[in-house]
Amino acid sequence: MSNNHSDVIHAAQRIVVKIGSVLLVDEKNGHARQDWLNSVASDIAALKSQGKEVVVVSSGAIALGRQALGIDYTNRPSSIPLEQKQAAAALGNVEISKAYAQAFAPFDQQTALILLSPRDTEERKPHLNARATLLTLLKHNKIPVINENDTVSTAEIRFGDNDRLAARVAQMIGADLLIQLSTTDGLYTGDPTQDDTAEHIPLVENYSDDLLDMAGEAPAGLSTGGMKSKLEAARIATKAGVNMIIASGKLDNPIAALQRDVKGTLFKSSLKPLKARKKWISSHVHAEGSLIIDDGAVKALQGGKSLLPAGVAKIDGDFAMGDAVQILDKHGHMIAIGLINYSANEGRLILGCKSTDIADVLGYSRGDTLIHRDDLVLQA
Ligand code: GLU
Repeated sequence: MSNNHSDVIHAAQRIVVKIGSVLLVDEKNGHARQDWLNSVASDIAALKSQGKEVVVVSSGAIALGRQALGIDYTNRPSSIPLEQKQAAAALGNVEISKAYAQAFAPFDQQTALILLSPRDTEERKPHLNARATLLTLLKHNKIPVINENDTVSTAEIRFGDNDRLAARVAQMIGADLLIQLSTTDGLYTGDPTQDDTAEHIPLVENYSDDLLDMAGEAPAGLSTGGMKSKLEAARIATKAGVNMIIASGKLDNPIAALQRDVKGTLFKSSLKPLKARKKWISSHVHAEGSLIIDDGAVKALQGGKSLLPAGVAKIDGDFAMGDAVQILDKHGHMIAIGLINYSANEGRLILGCKSTDIADVLGYSRGDTLIHRDDLVLQA
């Protein structure tokens, strides 16, 4: 793969674009910078017209909602009491929703607002649930706009910055690229605002925590994250098979600019998202039950197919949707582990059925597969 931004964007199929508060919100009047956002929407619409899927992670709720509460924002957001930030976020997410809907309307693109907490991306069941919602929206050609669910989270369970949230989202949906639009055009060997000799780093091929030494804290004003949280995001992204670019969003049409010649820092991942996901599954699971499958299903799984109810002969144990299960052949040999889309009780009702009969038997369906191939890890 090339190291050129344009080629990396061109090769990506599923892209997460993170937009920081400083870019979205005019620091002086506390309103959305609608003209700039319209230009980003035009860039994203262009990517979508090339068949790509795009998810936006947007900050700015607290910054947009603060005026209504009379909050002085000249200090760091961290100096504002939590309950005030949460109330401001509740007001501001309505403004985020309006600003994005307005920006995408000329391109006939519909946006959907999703508020996520860290546990929705980290714990297996909420993760699967949020993932299914996001993938459904993408399948219907919608643009999910995600922010952290600031309004109810307590200090201990917040990301606090959307840089890491964006990386978790990219990991969750198996994105191949995360573009972090920020006020800086990438990583430097020092703080370029303080140090004239600081040099721009265009490419990081092997992320290492040593890079954190180069990062400064977030500047005062609307920023929350700064370079440190962007590097933490780079660590999450590159481990999950996601390439990440930090690029300046100061210009209009910043993604198109990046595709031309504007500077940025590319953090390359050497993994493929699906491989990384399977690694995540193997390291996070403790099997709650097992399925005995017939010889035809063993062959299908080994040929890279999903597990359908028709191939299952018996279900042991008690598990819920999203739990991990072992998959055994009729001699008791372990074939795979996987995350199942139906509970043990549901599974017992549909076992042996054709997938088209699931809805008739249960009265609803969560899809044709008992375990999707992306959620299956074959045993060596
Ligand atoms: N979730 C916060 C907001 O919408 C922003 C976090 C960040 O600045 O990254 O205001």
